[in-house]
Amino acid sequence: MRFLLQRPLPDELLSSALVRTCIRFDVRIKALMRSIHGSGNAPSFFHMSNIGAYAEALCMEPRSLLFKATVFPSLVAFRPWERREGYAAEAIQPHPGSPFKLSALQSTSIYVPYRRVCSRCIRSDYATHGWTYWHVSHHLPGVSICQKHNVRLRETTLSTASGNARWSYLLPGGVEASLKRRHRSDFEMELNRLAWATQAGEPWFTLGPLSERHYRRQLEKSGFVDRDRQVSTLTATKWVSGLVSRLPSTKGLFEDDPSLAWIEPVLRYPCSLPQPAFKHLVMHAAIASARQPGLPFLNHKPTGMTFRDLGALDATAARKLDERIRTAKRRGTRFTLQQLLEEQGIWTTFRHARSRFPATLAVISRHRPALLRARRRPGDWLPQA
Ligand SMILES: [Zn+2]
Repeated sequence: MRFLLQRPLPDELLSSALVRTCIRFDVRIKALMRSIHGSGNAPSFFHMSNIGAYAEALCMEPRSLLFKATVFPSLVAFRPWERREGYAAEAIQPHPGSPFKLSALQSTSIYVPYRRVCSRCIRSDYATHGWTYWHVSHHLPGVSICQKHNVRLRETTLSTASGNARWSYLLPGGVEASLKRRHRSDFEMELNRLAWATQAGEPWFTLGPLSERHYRRQLEKSGFVDRDRQVSTLTATKWVSGLVSRLPSTKGLFEDDPSLAWIEPVLRYPCSLPQPAFKHLVMHAAIASARQPGLPFLNHKPTGMTFRDLGALDATAARKLDERIRTAKRRGTRFTLQQLLEEQGIWTTFRHARSRFPATLAVISRHRPALLRARRRPGDWLPQA
């Protein structure tokens, strides 16, 4: 039965090719799956595991199948090279005990909760191939427009979530879909462009993790913030939230995190806190598409904390921390390390980039035996430093 498997058409999702195989040869999905790789579960809409087995049945190169017929390239963007390779190997052939679990990547259905169609693609696919099918490029996080026809995609009520009960033998031709008419913003067009380019592996900045200062530099370069000012994350969050909320389908982004709290860590230290690629695309599109009169609108209070000043900040914080711990020990008062670092105004920065605070770290490790003793006494505790 595995040799019945239909080869994905141009820009077709692997799961869509499975649906076509089932319809064409009147087979059930579970039987088809068992014949290909032994597992009898219905695949998810964004299915991308056991790619090696599909590639063998189709006489294709596994990487080409993975990169063309799934949203894999979009999901691994902004990750270090070795992690991307680890996930690719796991997608092609699952390895028990591998640290690269695909479930860690598959947040696609959060950002693309429903299947989408382009009415012109439906007509032209049918005319060209005799089938309608689900397109990869219509289901990338951030996409709302058909790349080929430049029209707004229509949204169906069919879920993209995984689970046996979600499996559907439907193809776009037989599904109702509604169109949300919205003004096209520069932000929306830029987000679409970036999402397509990311899937194609094009923009340089998706090739690995961004430098810690990436967004700060971009914001300075665009004139959104002066060099000697902190970024107002409150204003930045309002700004991005305003852009995103005018898009036709961003339910998932807000459901996942209603206050868009991810913007602050992304703007501060993207390296230490990996974020889904889609969130990076949102930030890049916001910066690239913004036309703000009255710049620099993201200025916050003057920095005591530019990176140039971090050394001085670290030295001061270390000295004061040392004094505070000594006093507290002498008086027997309770404290937590977080409290003490908050007093010094460095807790948030320290938490995300402690390697930038060598002097503070040295003080903590010098007091560590006492800190650990304090922690073992009931009632007293200290967080791990
Ligand atoms: Zn189209």
